[in-house]
Amino acid sequence: MTGAELRVDLDVLAANIAAVRARVAPAALMLVVKDDAYGLGIPAVVARAQQAGVTRFGAFDVVTGSAVRAVAGPEAQIFAWQTTGPDGIRRALRDRIDLGVGDRDFLTDIAGVARAEGIAARVHLKIDTGLHRNGIRPEDWPDAVAEARRMVEAGLIEIEGVWSHIAEASDAEDDLSRAVFDRAVQQASDAGLRVPLRHLAASAAAFARPEFRYDAVRIGAFCYGVRSADGPHESALGLRSMATLVAPVAAVVGDTVTVGIGALDGLPSNLAGRMPVHTPAGRRTVRAIHADRIEVEGWPGAAIGDEVTVLGGPAASATDLGELIDTVGEEILTRVSPRIARVYC
Ligand SMILES: *Cc1c(COP(=O)(O)O)cnc(C)c1O
Repeated sequence: MTGAELRVDLDVLAANIAAVRARVAPAALMLVVKDDAYGLGIPAVVARAQQAGVTRFGAFDVVTGSAVRAVAGPEAQIFAWQTTGPDGIRRALRDRIDLGVGDRDFLTDIAGVARAEGIAARVHLKIDTGLHRNGIRPEDWPDAVAEARRMVEAGLIEIEGVWSHIAEASDAEDDLSRAVFDRAVQQASDAGLRVPLRHLAASAAAFARPEFRYDAVRIGAFCYGVRSADGPHESALGLRSMATLVAPVAAVVGDTVTVGIGALDGLPSNLAGRMPVHTPAGRRTVRAIHADRIEVEGWPGAAIGDEVTVLGGPAASATDLGELIDTVGEEILTRVSPRIARVYC
């Protein structure tokens, strides 16, 4: 081989999606596709997910939401939750992207753009259930829902859902968050808002804890076969890894083999000395990591062009590598440079 490639198995994506949907039913699956579908590529992932029955996508930002709309067509439900300015709001309205709103000022801005455009915004109100990253604080929530109700009556917004995000760090904390969430949903309906979709959980809580599933779950990692750090193995979850980074030997000098991974912002350099790769002679340790290449322990007969598996398949999974340096698998996967060819099978 001549250049590194990320091989993405879309059949495995479809199988993972089927496993996730079976697990969380009757809750709906919202497939999270932020960070270019965790580095796997929006167009291919969205198209295949749709074939596998996915109708809801979680996009993080409006630009990504528009990219999903272009692939998924007019029927898909697309949710973006990054706060954005008037241009972003306008784009969301025109592309019929639902907006996650965790801030009263953002709600006011949305209403303003909706009035100017003559298009009602589709809003999911976010309650802060304890993460303190974004979200309407519980003490502000009653006023916020009252205001939202007035905007609904004025035809400026439609409430599509109430949502939050949880830490998934401890069951006890998550339970406290869930209590805050339940109260917020109750207050919204007491204020006369219909709440079509309640969503709280991402991969880990959605799998492990049925009471967190509500009407929909927002899942990225598990659909892509990325298990949680320090969590159950993929096979125990009924999931498989779907991405394999393979790269060619570029030079052999003495006992050191250089593999050209061609990835700027590639692998975290602190994986050097700890990270294994899979070579034609079996497992070898990576000695050094540079922006575009890695140096690996040699093996007899190593030759330029030999294929080395750096990530996934017979090598370590993204989460295996993440655990070596106290991070999550998504962090490793999304660092595979966009300049590396994605090859779909
Ligand atoms: C990334 C993200 C998710 C998906 O998390 P996974 O653990 O990858 O399933 C869900 N909700 C929000 C708000 C996110 O940012």
